[in-house]
Amino acid sequence: MSETYTFQAEIKQLLHTLVHSLYTDREIFLRELISNSSDALNRLQFEMLTTRDVRDPEAELAIRILVDKEARTLTIRDTGVGMTHDEVIENLGTISHSGIKSFIEQAKNATNAVEFIGQFGVGFYSIFMVADRVVVHTLSYRPDAKPVKWISDGSETYEVTEGDRETRGTDVILYLKEDADEFLDEGRLRTIIHKHSNYIAFPIYLGDGEEPINDRQAIWRRSPNEVTEEEYYTFYKSLTFDFENPRLYIHTTTDAPVQYYALLYVPAKREPAIFSRRKEPGLQLYARKVLIQDYCTDLLPEYLSFMQGVVDSEDLPLNVSRETVQANRVMVNLKKAITGKVLRELKDFAKRDSEGYAAFWEEFGPFLKQGILIDPDNKERLSSLLRFYSTHSPDKLISLDEYVERMQEVQNQDAIYYILGDNKSTVMNSPHLEPFRARGIEVLFFTETVDSFLINSLFEYNGHRLQNVDDENLDLSDIGTLSEEVDEAEQPPIEGEALSALKERFEKVLGDRVHSVRVSKVLVGTANPARLVSPEGTLDRHTQKVYQLLDREYEVPRKILEFNPRHRIIHNLANLITTGADQSLIDATIEQLYENALLIDGLHPNPAEMVQRIQRLMEVATTSTTVQH
Ligand code: ADP
Repeated sequence: MSETYTFQAEIKQLLHTLVHSLYTDREIFLRELISNSSDALNRLQFEMLTTRDVRDPEAELAIRILVDKEARTLTIRDTGVGMTHDEVIENLGTISHSGIKSFIEQAKNATNAVEFIGQFGVGFYSIFMVADRVVVHTLSYRPDAKPVKWISDGSETYEVTEGDRETRGTDVILYLKEDADEFLDEGRLRTIIHKHSNYIAFPIYLGDGEEPINDRQAIWRRSPNEVTEEEYYTFYKSLTFDFENPRLYIHTTTDAPVQYYALLYVPAKREPAIFSRRKEPGLQLYARKVLIQDYCTDLLPEYLSFMQGVVDSEDLPLNVSRETVQANRVMVNLKKAITGKVLRELKDFAKRDSEGYAAFWEEFGPFLKQGILIDPDNKERLSSLLRFYSTHSPDKLISLDEYVERMQEVQNQDAIYYILGDNKSTVMNSPHLEPFRARGIEVLFFTETVDSFLINSLFEYNGHRLQNVDDENLDLSDIGTLSEEVDEAEQPPIEGEALSALKERFEKVLGDRVHSVRVSKVLVGTANPARLVSPEGTLDRHTQKVYQLLDREYEVPRKILEFNPRHRIIHNLANLITTGADQSLIDATIEQLYENALLIDGLHPNPAEMVQRIQRLMEVATTSTTVQH
């Protein structure tokens, strides 16, 4: 009996796109089908471990590619799990992936829709790039299942009938389009398989050949000094379908405290490649060569979830099921060992190739910073992997070790100083840096979102405490030597009556919005009129910043306003107060000084509001200039 079903709406659109477009890279359909067969074989292998009753237990686990030139068909045959009637409809008639809609949207506008295929798990349907009719013969491994035949010409409907297949597995028969002759050529097929599917773990036979044409030997079980870089890269690409070479590979075999082989990769980019076959984070976990879990997230902490690769252990019991993997003690040891290995290798990488590491850091730095927050056991190791820009090195990332080494040259410096801000150009113009520049003290730039969190758990490095440059108790008087340039530029500070009147005025205007007002001892030159410092004991002084980032209700934190008694504006203000000039101009200037300081620290709640005031100040400035001329 034959039944006709309609494809899920999304698939209909997808098929339309695939059938009616021309693709340059359409050879990848073969990679998709072989990959599906390999998945089916992996699952069968796993079933054989856990289920006793499997149809045809003796059948070789293999893939065979067959060409019939006369019938113009190409067949991909496997002895994998096969599918039951319901599974055929479920798997080949619907796509559960939520990305499918977005795929169709993008594919519509793309000149080469094939770029999107792998990414959205529409792998199977790529057959319609090369075939105008497809027949699937399948028989499930379940002993009571019946054979099924699935037929589609890529139109709106497909047909499902009883099949006549007698052995376990799946045949996908492609009736090739007229312009797809190349896929009837065994030489061409061999090349494609070598290129995309060489490391499939099961033998791939071509025609009636008796020798597999792929390499098969698990690359991670080979000795690291026998594997070439090229082979590592090829394996990576066949695992992930990434186009780019990985940034780093780590190949290790260890016996104690737990036996494992691991071949791990750091991808070049944080975003998965458009073709990526890996749809979720996680590593492939093999127990004695059998794939137990395709996406195992229990082998590495979450902050290393960008890693790709394979872990294979002889110590995992073979009867381990996907559910019990997590609870297994061996897993705990594996995770610890592998995490340690990755962190050590990253450190070596940084030493060996600082440029490569910098490129890695640009992509994955925030992940490692997250690690510092959540993995206290590895805090030390992770801290040494951190990189920052700084006043001494605004264009080249430096490590905390480099900072500490350099600070030895500064007299009496013991703390590591950092400045928090929105981005490099803002912090470089911050008044907080002035006294540090004047004394030749290096300051690290903490300008990434996660840095506000980072400083809540990174208090010191190798015995040197980390100190914010806006710290209330900052005292640099003994540290370094003040450069002569600054000494000469010194103007006499305002003092006495004028000073206290000015301070009072600041207090009156700013009121509760500031913790207090004081004269700065730290601002040495004449470049900056004011800055905001954080009162001691406000341990959560960055909490507000974090709220701002999280879009929670944000309050401008109450800080200490420090003004520079040598600065021209401050001098002028003092004069205006003494002479009793335009009161509202004085207040507006004070207000603006405060808000400028907020802006520079990235704390301003709403910059737009200050425009009115700036315009008023400009009006005064331009008027007085006009009068003078
Ligand atoms: P994906 O492989 O990304 O899940 P596909 O569209 O390539 O998506 O395949 C859909 C589903 O069809 C697979 O997940 C699998 O369950 C089933 N399938 C495809 N090919 C085979 C096969 N050769 N043997 C058994 N099941 C298969």
